[in-house]
Amino acid sequence: MITKIPKTISEARDMFASGELTPTQLVEHYISVIKEKDAEINAVLEIFEDAKTAAKVADRNIREGKPRELEGIPFLIKDNILYKGHIASAASLMLQKHVAAYNSTTLDLILREGAIVLGRTNMDDAALGSSGESSAFGPTKNPVDMERVPGGTSSGSAAALAAGMCLVALGTDTGGSVRQPASFCGVFGMKGTYGIYSRSGIIAAASSLEGPGILANSAEDVLTIHKIVAQADPLDNTSIPNYIREEFSKNENISSSKKVIGYPKEYLEAEGLNREVKENFFNKLEDLKKKGYEVREISFDTLKYSISTYYIINVAEVSTNLSRLDGLRYGGGEVRDVKNYQELFAKNRGNFFGKEIKRRIMIGSYVLSHGYYDAYYGKALLLRDMMKQEFGEVFKNIDFLAMPTAPTTAWKFGEIKDPLSLYLEDIFTVPANLAGIPAISIPNGVDTNNMPIGFQLLAPYMADEKLLEFVKNI
Ligand code: GLN
Repeated sequence: MITKIPKTISEARDMFASGELTPTQLVEHYISVIKEKDAEINAVLEIFEDAKTAAKVADRNIREGKPRELEGIPFLIKDNILYKGHIASAASLMLQKHVAAYNSTTLDLILREGAIVLGRTNMDDAALGSSGESSAFGPTKNPVDMERVPGGTSSGSAAALAAGMCLVALGTDTGGSVRQPASFCGVFGMKGTYGIYSRSGIIAAASSLEGPGILANSAEDVLTIHKIVAQADPLDNTSIPNYIREEFSKNENISSSKKVIGYPKEYLEAEGLNREVKENFFNKLEDLKKKGYEVREISFDTLKYSISTYYIINVAEVSTNLSRLDGLRYGGGEVRDVKNYQELFAKNRGNFFGKEIKRRIMIGSYVLSHGYYDAYYGKALLLRDMMKQEFGEVFKNIDFLAMPTAPTTAWKFGEIKDPLSLYLEDIFTVPANLAGIPAISIPNGVDTNNMPIGFQLLAPYMADEKLLEFVKNI
């Protein structure tokens, strides 16, 4: 019998080292929690049978006194992260039989350190959404309150972690998909600088915005994983090469004295920002002041264009990326009784693409089409550049930029139905993706319904470690 369940990686390591707990026991524990709770939560799409075999290897390595960094640490991974020989469907009917032919590099890096993958988690269909409701395999529930959404698109990863089904989870973040569900479920969620974690082996949706992300129970755990996965990758041509990493690490003064935290005053006047979330945010800033940090109100002109810019670039990239899903390749689309290719594509895409995928492909094709390209896509790219520049300016005077993670806490199923209102929920998360900078959501108490609230910090390009070191100490 296990008497205590570790909450963090270091606790688990200590318990393994003292012999109080073995990886096999911990893996069996999580599998039993999944079996007990997941019929209702629906966070886990599949438990991988080979997790137990991996746990035995970890048991032995620990017994023999040669544990690797993550020896025996049980993970769950989002269903759009490739794990060789296992299904990776992005919770989409179009990929429901897709078996990964190779490992995602990010996953490979944790596996090499002895991590154990318990299974794959539910998500919004093709990583498009903000609520966890659009999976082809049914919605995920928020374990804090089953009547509410867990957030999305890494809905299963956040819900599973919060429900005690794993110790760490991996997700992906294109416009908030790690941070927003982390905030709704009350855990830590980090997206790194664009290109700091490899995107090789992540099922691509919007390539210039997305990357893997880390969900954990503490900032320290996020930092542990960050250090392992922040590696240059020759398999990903958007991965930041080593010489740039080295340049930045030379310049980075992690322990430099007093930190200055800015917040974008006008942007926080947004109509949809819930009163309690706003109060909670300002209370946290007061807290930080009391701890001796300087808090500065700043103005940030281009932020107000974030949602429109994001939803043009995102749909444009989604429409081109998903055109490879034709029902012939990968394993998913099944309709074969057709007369020609046209019919084959139309029938497979018609039947197996979810509603949101179709919507984005249509809008994406429109903004990229002749005559509208300059009016929409071209302008969005321009605004994105301006926003990046403004971030550069802003970060000359402050160390971190604070915002709520989301304008609300988790809402009840069915409360937000129209796609535009859902898009607006991303108001505070998309700026970091547009600028390609790191950002983390930190659990910061609850509202009057007892639903978790997230506090978000954004940092300059490549200041990921500085951000995590700071979060560890606040
Ligand atoms: N909610 C955003 C969208 O629907 C973000 C998705 C994501 O980060 N994968 O595009």
